[in-house]
Amino acid sequence: MQGQLKLKAARVLCVGAGGLGSPLAMYLAAAGVGTLGIVDFDVVDASNLHRQVIHFTQDVGRPKLASAEEKVHGINPNVTVRKFETRLTSANALEIFKDFHVVVDGTDNFPTRYLINDACVLSGKPNVYGSIFRFEGQASIFAAPKTTAQEAGPCYRCVYPEPPPPGMVPSCAEGGVLGILPGLVGLIQATETIKLITGLGEPLIGRLLLVDALAMRFREMKLRKNPDCPICGTNRTITKLIDYERFCGLGATAGRPEKSTEKPDTMPNALPEMTVEELKSKLDAKENLFVLDVREPHEYQICNLGDYGAKLIPMGDVQKRQQELDPEQHIVVHCRSGVRSAKVVDFLRQQGFEKVQNLAGGILAWADRIDKTMPKY
Ligand SMILES: [Zn+2]
Repeated sequence: MQGQLKLKAARVLCVGAGGLGSPLAMYLAAAGVGTLGIVDFDVVDASNLHRQVIHFTQDVGRPKLASAEEKVHGINPNVTVRKFETRLTSANALEIFKDFHVVVDGTDNFPTRYLINDACVLSGKPNVYGSIFRFEGQASIFAAPKTTAQEAGPCYRCVYPEPPPPGMVPSCAEGGVLGILPGLVGLIQATETIKLITGLGEPLIGRLLLVDALAMRFREMKLRKNPDCPICGTNRTITKLIDYERFCGLGATAGRPEKSTEKPDTMPNALPEMTVEELKSKLDAKENLFVLDVREPHEYQICNLGDYGAKLIPMGDVQKRQQELDPEQHIVVHCRSGVRSAKVVDFLRQQGFEKVQNLAGGILAWADRIDKTMPKY
């Protein structure tokens, strides 16, 4: 009863009324959440009905918001639905977020994901995150504010400091997605939202849940706050919302305004690279090669090239631990997708390391093309 009253008083904002937003909105309505805000500007498309189960065949061509509101009220007429028929942007996010207690990320693109994260950090609201790609999903609660019961949790940027290179990660529309998977992940988000509101159980803060639908395996990765995080760390460089299209479109350096356009000739793609196939054949041939992994320790736990002698020095520590590296040695640097490692290669070359190369596509490319049993994240 106590919990039910808390749910009734709760105001939850769901960004997106698509694959993740559909089960979320339906179950939150059924659970009795008092106010449900929904942000979406799209219309219902027949090709999405297999995963956007709040929309029916007869809704094709209608605004998703109108369709979603109708179903929510069909489930529970007492829910107040607040509709935001707009694209979430840096200009409107904080204003939209301000009336809500919890924000749920039901989007499918990186610029909006970083925007939601940053707006949540700046406004002190928890970000119930979920994402899906093909047969794999993820969920966590990011940017959980400090309370009497818990310390502030890590944010999305603590875990993914850099967006993937543009074009490397296809959207759901391009990459395809198992229609059931957003249902599974969306319900994990709904569960976490209800737990946050009612204070029940152990929230998914500081933990990233990884769902592999094909193997039907759930794994968990411990997350920690990155003290150097540009938005929630100790020395913050991002204090207001930025241009997220540019941040993601131009890759890693674009998010920091002070560096946005300088030195285009040292952009990562001008750096010497090696493919994962080349690396594998050199390692198999026992060539004298040093593999440097510049990811964070929690990423290393998931998958690594430790069997090939890879050494872990997180990007933020490379400068102060530079003496552990031999400038005469042939070094191949890798991270998750190749963005952070490119920066490290650039840095090491400026320090006089001549035989240093970036592993194109990072350990994700290795998992895709060399070792398909390697877990991805
Ligand atoms: Zn952070």
